[in-house]
Amino acid sequence: MLLLAVLVTYVYGGFAQRQLGIAPPLAYAVGLGFVVCLLGSVLLHELGHALTARRFKIGVRGITLELLGGYTELDREAPAPRVDALVALAGPAVSLILGGLATVAAVTLPDRTVAGEIAFQLAASNILVAVFNVLPGLPLDGGRALRAGLWALLRDRNRATEVAAWAGRGLALVTGCAVVLLFQSRVLTLFGLVFILLVAVTLWRGAGQSLRLARMTRRFPLIDLAVLARPLVAVPSGTSIAEAQRRAHAAGPTRAGLAVADASGRIVALVDGTAAAAVPVERQPWVSVDAVARDVSALPALRVGLAGEEVVRVVQAHPGAGYLVTSGEDVVGVLHVADLVELLEPRRVQRRTAAR
Ligand SMILES: [Zn+2]
Repeated sequence: MLLLAVLVTYVYGGFAQRQLGIAPPLAYAVGLGFVVCLLGSVLLHELGHALTARRFKIGVRGITLELLGGYTELDREAPAPRVDALVALAGPAVSLILGGLATVAAVTLPDRTVAGEIAFQLAASNILVAVFNVLPGLPLDGGRALRAGLWALLRDRNRATEVAAWAGRGLALVTGCAVVLLFQSRVLTLFGLVFILLVAVTLWRGAGQSLRLARMTRRFPLIDLAVLARPLVAVPSGTSIAEAQRRAHAAGPTRAGLAVADASGRIVALVDGTAAAAVPVERQPWVSVDAVARDVSALPALRVGLAGEEVVRVVQAHPGAGYLVTSGEDVVGVLHVADLVELLEPRRVQRRTAAR
């Protein structure tokens, strides 16, 4: 983004020198001013999404600005298609209004002046942002509006997301082919070609992400902690790693996790399997499990009765490799995030294992 900001400042500064006859230091200041205006426009676009979301009591985690667009991170999905559509379209609406105001300014202000030039550029860029973003394919705003419509129609949010994501991939393909044709017929410069191709690739990948998320969300109801959690084999504090592993094997299930219990038998820490495996085999009889265990108070906990979506929400809020599974006061098992990923994305995990 910084590189792009420098590039735009440089190109626009050069333009200001040639077309507006401004001396170099000021010309680049005008270029930088244009970058600031662009960022301001993107911020207002995102604020359109964020404030509309908050009106419907959806929290906003953050807004990320990029020179040619940003994104607003919401803390949950819209509860209904209508809200989804309104939040999605609020951004392009703001851009369209800004573009309109800037157009009026550009027409009113005298030609070949700094203010007139910036107004024209702002008008062009805001209208471009508005039009590009309402194209009907995920992850664009128009794609979200399309999904909202399909969601209302099909009454299945995941299916709607999948269709809108494929529309996004279609848009990316059409954009890619169109710019190559435009470049071949010399309408577009090489810079334009590379730039729009980058946009198309970003669009394709964004659509892929949406598709992946929809497929995962479809599998959320399969999450059952009673099945997914690995049972624990508890050993007293001070036991060596080698002895603890021997007991774990003797206990039967290879999936079991190792835990450390205090004198009263209460589980106080979980053994980190990776850390334990990192201890050289010849040292394992001499190193205590406590050295490779994590205190249970430091680990996020999941109640065994939690529904699939709630489990995912906790995992997203506290990213880590392992989670305690509790029933009342008792620790009954451990959830490995890898097991959860395998459940949600079996194909991807299989493919990765096959590639190894
Ligand atoms: Zn937007």
